[in-house]
Amino acid sequence: MDIEKELREKAAELLTSGKVKAVVGYGAGSAPDRPRAVFVTKPEDVEKLVWNKYCFYNLTTYIIKSEVCKLGPLAVVVKGCDAKTLVVLEKESQLKREDVTAIGVTCAGVGEPTQNKCAGCDVHTPIGCDFVIGDEIENKEVSFEDKYGSLKKITEMSREERWAFWEKEFSKCIKCYACSHICPLCYCSRCIVEKNQPQWIDSSSHGKGNFAWNFTRAFHLAGRCIGCGECDRACPMDIPLNLINKQLAMEVEENFNFKPGYDINDDLAMATYKEDDEANFIK
Ligand code: SF4
Ligand code: SF4
Ligand code: SF4
Repeated sequence: MDIEKELREKAAELLTSGKVKAVVGYGAGSAPDRPRAVFVTKPEDVEKLVWNKYCFYNLTTYIIKSEVCKLGPLAVVVKGCDAKTLVVLEKESQLKREDVTAIGVTCAGVGEPTQNKCAGCDVHTPIGCDFVIGDEIENKEVSFEDKYGSLKKITEMSREERWAFWEKEFSKCIKCYACSHICPLCYCSRCIVEKNQPQWIDSSSHGKGNFAWNFTRAFHLAGRCIGCGECDRACPMDIPLNLINKQLAMEVEENFNFKPGYDINDDLAMATYKEDDEANFIK
């Protein structure tokens, strides 16, 4: 099946019928391996849409931005991992699912070589989309061990070694905030790093401030991060942000039996109070 052709046909159909006024998809970038986001508003422009193994971006980042919302109603092209974001955004009242048309694309993996996240993918065929384009790829369940096996190098360290590891990694951070800007779930209109009265997090790049920034961000994403890996890919200093996101995902799954982005009916792990919570963490 020619996914690109089908994608363009679906976009043309949605725009022509008036169901949507803009399609947020992938378009050709400055090089074949650098597709970028495009916002197609006319059926005659659907040829601008592309699909290939370098379509890394999680385009849901755009659909809650006010400038883009103004173009709506919107359709957005999503891979299986990206589609999970829609569930979290709806759960957190950032969008009404009925206002967005999700065009899912089946995906065997992105990157050359294929990105690490794709080895443990259980959503090759996107779930919860309005349309799915591409031949179905079986979504196989991935065991807890396989999913989090790559964390061994972190979990087997002593506390001191782990501290030293992250101290070294975070010392590279230049506070460019690319990780936050690319993340579809970092949507606060004013991030804590932008506040200067009082200034909670120093904007200059130094050891303590870098720890405060990177840990604050990671913990704010705990139980919410859907593992698209975009923050890790965007970091110009190659800080392994995926490792910290994954470790928090593992803790949340282990302790709360919760994985974000799969089912809108699941209670959010970090926003749910139950009287019978064991609350072991404060005992
Ligand atoms: S995790 Fe990889 S294989 Fe799975 S949907 Fe996302 S990009 Fe595709
Ligand atoms: S924290 Fe990183 S991996 Fe998680 S949703 Fe945001 S960009 Fe994606
Ligand atoms: S993208 Fe990397 S260097 Fe930039 S703020 Fe985030 S962690 Fe720091």
